[in-house]
Amino acid sequence: MMVHCRQLCRSYSSGAVHVPAVRDLNLEIRDGEFVAITGPSGSGKSTLLNLIGSLDSPDSGEIAVAGLALHQASEAEKTEFRRREIGIVFQFFNLMPTMTVRENVMLPLALRGDDLKAGHQRAAELLGLVGLGERQTHFPHQLSGGEMQRVAFARALIHAPRLVIADEPTGNLDSANRDRIIDVLRDIHGQGLATLVVVTHEEEVAAAASRRVEMRDGWLVEHG
Ligand code: ADP
Repeated sequence: MMVHCRQLCRSYSSGAVHVPAVRDLNLEIRDGEFVAITGPSGSGKSTLLNLIGSLDSPDSGEIAVAGLALHQASEAEKTEFRRREIGIVFQFFNLMPTMTVRENVMLPLALRGDDLKAGHQRAAELLGLVGLGERQTHFPHQLSGGEMQRVAFARALIHAPRLVIADEPTGNLDSANRDRIIDVLRDIHGQGLATLVVVTHEEEVAAAASRRVEMRDGWLVEHG
């Protein structure tokens, strides 16, 4: 089991207003699944994804990811856990502008203090996987948005995480680039490189997933 949530709750308070973003949520995701989280804006999708990625902590309930009980883990344990087990892709790519494509992909290894020699080969393979094998020494500003997002997927995979989370990875792309990202997601899933959990409001992305769940006002609704 990759993700196991039991009666998970997370709410926000702003002034006197109390917003339950995730309510009593139960969810299990098996190794190798590709899960799409859909639902209207403000329904709790990002909050749930951040809990799964150990970027945020629940108010109550249990959450275990890749065998670690996150609701009991210390910040240091969670930081180490993310470096080892989680790859993260954001809507706005977050590439380092002064680094080449290959350096960007290898950044998680550099941050872990890993040997970068082996990383070179792996970075080249992953850039090949996302169709950018010829662009390794380019800089982000020389790429289109869709290409930058594919670099971000290669970077998310470089440390061989067991789980990759992505928040609206196609939210900023035109339909042609969106379709290339869907191909990348299918390849990651098909090759069994990582379990995938993707927040999306795009039907085409959700349709590519092996399973979809929907958030509504903080509640999780399963689809068959
Ligand atoms: P979605 O990803 O589906 O758009 P979110 O998880 O971002 O939904 O938000 C769920 C609810 O929690 C929304 O009502 C949102 O306004 C609220 N919320 C999210 N983050 C915060 C925050 N940092 N502070 C206060 N409220 C927040």
